[in-house]
Amino acid sequence: MSVLPWGLLPDSAEVGPDGQLLIGGCDLEELAGHYGTPLFVYDEDQLRARCREAVAAFGDGVAYATKAFLCRAMARLVHEEGMHLDVASGGELHVALDAGVPAERLVLHGNNKSELELIRARDAGVGRIVVDSFDELHRLEQLHAVDGIVPKVLLRITPGVEAHTHEFVMTGQDDSKFGFGLKVGDAQRAVDRATASPAVELVGIHAHIGSQVFVAGFFEQAVEALAPFVNATGLPELSIGGGIGVAYVEGESAPSITEWGAVVRAACDAAGITARVSAEPGRSIAAAAAVTLYRVGTVK
Ligand SMILES: *Cc1c(COP(=O)(O)O)cnc(C)c1O
Repeated sequence: MSVLPWGLLPDSAEVGPDGQLLIGGCDLEELAGHYGTPLFVYDEDQLRARCREAVAAFGDGVAYATKAFLCRAMARLVHEEGMHLDVASGGELHVALDAGVPAERLVLHGNNKSELELIRARDAGVGRIVVDSFDELHRLEQLHAVDGIVPKVLLRITPGVEAHTHEFVMTGQDDSKFGFGLKVGDAQRAVDRATASPAVELVGIHAHIGSQVFVAGFFEQAVEALAPFVNATGLPELSIGGGIGVAYVEGESAPSITEWGAVVRAACDAAGITARVSAEPGRSIAAAAAVTLYRVGTVK
């Protein structure tokens, strides 16, 4: 058994006077005693610092992907720090709204959004719906025929970039089950259809190539693949998604959010992209700010 590398703990981790582990000045043994185990312990200062880093790197419109960690307190914290919130189900939408986050700061995602989820999101007035399929466009058109609501939407495009991450969290390749394929022409067909549709207001393009991406260069590739298409549409927004990796075990290292933002910005500038560029970090905001406490029960 090896010792946990110090760098994998939250930034504020320190050893207290009696040899106990402290995070954010709190004694973990005391927390476990008070709240019981298992227990998630988040370092609030670190969460806030990462949110600020994301806003500084990408500017207004950058969204926290709530599937990385969501409860009402987290939704409020992220909102207070100036980020928008990605929600990918009716449950996440409910938590964010219940926390008091204004609907126009929410982005609805999902590759199999139910009619009810679309109705709830449109009724609440979410800021963006990221449309993932022709089926979904059809569903939005049917709902519009009933209630006349016209949400602002982005179209999720698969740029055909294989970010070298685990295949289960790789989403940007040509045969991905997420979004409209760029190379097969579905992306253009989706733009044409959404532009002509009275049921949606098309404002931009979205791409998310996967999670646990440790090499920022894959985002450069995604931008290069998307740029001619994005520029030809003339749409005002581009979201490059999330996915920058987080070190979980010894020997892993990942670019910071600041470094990732600089790479994306440089790639967009080089490709002549004039759309407002934003992103959706999840894991890189939340993962390294937390530990989970377990108590050893039975030893066999
Ligand atoms: C999961 C997800 C993200 C965030 O990914 P991380 O790896 O947590 O940064 C962003 N956008 C979409 C659409 C996602 O599904």
